[in-house]
Order: sequence, then structure tokens, then C-alpha cells
Amino acid sequence: MKVFITGGAGFIGSHLAERCIADGHEVWILDDLSTGAIENLDPVLEHPKFHHRIGDVTNEELVSELVDRADVVFHLAAAVGVKLIVERPTHTIETNVRGSEVVLKAAAKKDKLTFIASTSEVYGKGVKLPFAEEDDLLFGATTKSRWAYACSKAIDEWLALAYHRERGTPVVITRFFNTVGPRQTGRYGMVIPTFVRQGLAGEDITVYGSGDQRRCFGYVGEVVESLMRLAKQPAAVGQVFNVGNDREISINALAELIRERTGGRSKIIHMGYEDAYPDGFEDMERRIPCVEKIEAAIGYRPTMPVEDIVDRVIEAMSPEEDA
Ligand code: UDP
Repeated sequence: MKVFITGGAGFIGSHLAERCIADGHEVWILDDLSTGAIENLDPVLEHPKFHHRIGDVTNEELVSELVDRADVVFHLAAAVGVKLIVERPTHTIETNVRGSEVVLKAAAKKDKLTFIASTSEVYGKGVKLPFAEEDDLLFGATTKSRWAYACSKAIDEWLALAYHRERGTPVVITRFFNTVGPRQTGRYGMVIPTFVRQGLAGEDITVYGSGDQRRCFGYVGEVVESLMRLAKQPAAVGQVFNVGNDREISINALAELIRERTGGRSKIIHMGYEDAYPDGFEDMERRIPCVEKIEAAIGYRPTMPVEDIVDRVIEAMSPEEDA
């Protein structure tokens, strides 16, 4: 199979590329290296079946050329990370909406199976837990720029479903819940790599807000496995799937876990959101995926315990590993 991955040098994209190469597929990736990094591709860079292009996902000509070559397209290129999103809302909206438009237009011309990466953020401030694919979406005010990300991704979903309905384009939408693993950087605000870096350096571990907010963390390898299975499942076409682990942990408990696992030298401190994020931030308390739909479709869902995920991240980020 020939696979084209936009955002292939990013966190999830690079793991997906590696997995596709391991499975014997031919892989092309496109990345502008804005948040991705070429080092993420070190394990596959020299492989004869791996090809990369540095460029923008809004470049129609380049995207068409790569889509035309592929049997399946995974569109993962996007502005991601809460910090980046609230700091650069214009870039977020334009990259996410325009990028999906370009990819879907090219895919529709040749009827290519296309995965659109969406996010649990689209559930917004929903309070009916767990979040199921058919639930209503509840966004905050437009003055809070965090929701621009959710809205841009919701538009991507609508556009993909519109192509499917009107043109028969084979699309699959995956809503990724908090996904974690080696290579994820804390630079754009993600909590686990941030806490692990702080713990390993013996710095204060910074819990934002009360720390009673809870999240469910899924291991990136299991998210990739879910994608590979969905790609083989014709019944997945035209559908939206939650992809995530449904076990919850509070941010306070996570901080304690990471403090212990990184040698116990750090102090856990609490910071107000106003000190942690620029204006335009609003947190959500809980976010649990309903995984019934994906499990029924592919007979699989991420189950790796957060303790094991944290250990893998620590191992990957430990200084000895870099030596
Ligand atoms: N968070 C935190 N300290 C940090 C980074 C994040 O307490 O240094 C909190 C954040 O406010 C949120 C949770 O951890 O409640 C998860 O944040 P992340 O940005 O990883 O993902 P989100 O679920 O918000 O998209």
C-alpha cells in the first residue's frame, strides 16, 4: 500500500510513518517542520520506501501530487497544542481549515481513502460523559481563543462529511483524545512531557488550576494501531470515531505519579490559569471518550495504563537515552 501522511514529522505522524514502514508500505510524508521535527523520522529516514517533502499542506500542487500517488491519505498536519492555539489563533484557524480543504479537494478528485484527524476538543465543554460521537458540541465564547481550535476542527469534520455525502469521497474522521508517548514535546503545553521534563530536571511540577480536572491518556502506539485497523475496515468510511483510552486520572494524581517515577526530587506547585496561559484560555474539567463505536468497528481500543505510558515517556526523555 502507498501511504501519504501530512504532518508526518509530527508526534503522531512520525509514529504512524514508522509503523507503516514496519508493515512494508511505501510512505510519503509532507511536513512544514513548524511543530514537527525531522529527528522524529530518524528511524525511517534512510529506508528505501520512505520519502519526505518539506512544505506546506496548503500548497495545492504539492498536495495533489502526493495524494495522487497514494492509496490512503492520513491528514494529520494541523496547528496543535493549547499553548500554541491561544497564542496564535489566526495561524490555527487558517492552517486547520485551509489545510483540510486542500487535502480533501485533491482526495475527492481521485476518490482516495482519506483520514481526517480531529480532536476531543470538538466536544468542548460538554458535560454528558463519556463523550459519544453523536453528542451535541458545546463551545465557549468566541472571545476565548481556545475554542477556535475546536471550531476549526469541527469545520474540517463537516467538510469531510460533506465531501463524502455529495461526492462519495471515502473519508474517515478520527477524534483523538489526549495522546501521549515518546517524541511528544511539552513546548506547546502538553501536560505529560511537561511534567516529565520538570521531574527529570528536579524542577517544580506546575499543576494549573486546582488539579482536580481529569483527563484520559492514550498511548500513541495504540492510537496508530487503531488507525491501521480502521484503514482496513470498509464500514469505517463516512464515519466519525473517538480514539482514546477511557481511564481517567486527575492532574494532581498525574503530577504525583510523575514526581515519584522521576526520582521524587520535584515539588508540586499549583498555578492559576491566568499565570499559565495568555488571555483566551478556558479549561475543561473532564473528557472521557466513549469507545464503544470504535471497539465494535475494529475489535480494539487503547488500554495501556497511564503508569506504563509515563514510564515510556520517562525512558525516552531520560538524559542517558540521548547520550
Ligand atoms: N496542565 C497542567 N500543567 C502543565 C500543562 C498542562 O496542569 O504544565 C493541565 C492543563 O491545564 C489541562 C491538563 O493539564 O487541565 C491537560 O493539558 P494538555 O495541554 O496536555 O491537554 P488538553 O487536555 O488541555 O488539551
